[in-house]
Amino acid sequence: MQNHAQNNAELIHRSLSSVWHPCSQMKQYETFPLIPLECGKGVWLYDFEGNRYLDAVSSWWVNLFGHCNPRINAALKDQLERLEHAMLAGFTHEPVIELSERLRGIAPAGLGHCFYGSDGASATEIALKMSAHYWRNMGKPAKTQFISLKNSYHGETLGALSVTDVTLFRDAYGALISQQATVESPDTRLAAPGESFEDFAKRCAAMLDDHLQRHHEKIAAFIIEPLVQGAAGMAVHHPIYLTLARQICDRYGVHLIADEIAVGMGRTGTMFACEQGRISPDFLLLSKGITGGYLPLSVVMTKDEIYHAFYDDNSARGFLHSHSYTGNPLACRAALATLDIFLQDDVLNANRRKAEYLNRISEPLRGMPAVRNWRNTGMIWAFEVDSRLDNFPQRCFQMGLQHELLLRPMGSTVYFMPPYVVDDEEMQLLVERTMLVVEALA
Ligand SMILES: *Cc1c(COP(=O)(O)O)cnc(C)c1O
Repeated sequence: MQNHAQNNAELIHRSLSSVWHPCSQMKQYETFPLIPLECGKGVWLYDFEGNRYLDAVSSWWVNLFGHCNPRINAALKDQLERLEHAMLAGFTHEPVIELSERLRGIAPAGLGHCFYGSDGASATEIALKMSAHYWRNMGKPAKTQFISLKNSYHGETLGALSVTDVTLFRDAYGALISQQATVESPDTRLAAPGESFEDFAKRCAAMLDDHLQRHHEKIAAFIIEPLVQGAAGMAVHHPIYLTLARQICDRYGVHLIADEIAVGMGRTGTMFACEQGRISPDFLLLSKGITGGYLPLSVVMTKDEIYHAFYDDNSARGFLHSHSYTGNPLACRAALATLDIFLQDDVLNANRRKAEYLNRISEPLRGMPAVRNWRNTGMIWAFEVDSRLDNFPQRCFQMGLQHELLLRPMGSTVYFMPPYVVDDEEMQLLVERTMLVVEALA
């Protein structure tokens, strides 16, 4: 025990003196200490002091089938003995080919071409560049602007921040960003009293129509997180918005970019959120869960018409973008193993049953006086907590840990986005312990 405590303290010290942690005010680690992890298994993360934490946020929305999943591990070990990495310009390999073919087979119709990046933000960059470059190749060089929803989040590189509407980032980095316009979000929490979510979505779509009518000549694309705006605090909207947005974008000759980095791969109950609006976007962005939460990989899928606008003898008409690790074979193999699990375990159906179960057992939680706006889409649950604490997110995170939960609220929004391998007993624990946390902080 003595050894463990020493080891733990030493790891914290070494991390704080050498690692600059993301999404963190480093000074806060004086008050809320780092937790060195020893290992993970299934939904659980284990520290060096004998504590475990149920990863209720899937480690920032990436994990699908648990930590150290035996099937994904086996696929990676096999790939490791064949080819770890090679450049994808001038070369190709089976994992990237098979992944592209299989994604084309399951994605909404028409998305037959896969361009790879290493993370979500780079997928956003690729789609924005590809869209504007398409219009330029088509003789419409004025179409260089983009629009996104209010409170949108599409990544944190400078290009991605230009279509990200988060006050904190706009205040800090606004001077570096080419600021793009936003349109009203169909976030159900913003519906007028008595207005149905569907009517509100239609009203927001009318505002999108109005904006495009006036500005479409300069607009290349509209980028949206379909069904759930994650970083906005799991803001959900009615799928009719997607259906209407598709029609409106078509009417004005504007690309529709579906950023399914967080909501794709079964998270909203269908493999892709766009399916619920019965639409095919012009660009589909995937990352996060695509490798089961193992390795960085992103993909931008697009259709023939866009692909062919770049196909030419002139290299300046070709798409100009590359990353060192584009199409990394290990990451592609992890993605293939992830797709295998979806098939072998009939995951979408299994998740439907799990979601019903969690909804049923969470009645007492959603009935608590401090809990507002309970919402559920597929394997995402969220609610706001009435609390007077100004450091509610940190306190909630801390108190969650004391109850064996990894919760990471955004403002007053607490959400569950557990790995799909979560079982009944673990869901029970999640709900019961969350009630204790809410009770203590409300
Ligand atoms: C996480 C996320 C991104 C950015 O992905 P990174 O891998 O963190 O760069 C972009 N869009 C959405 C909707 C996301 O949730």
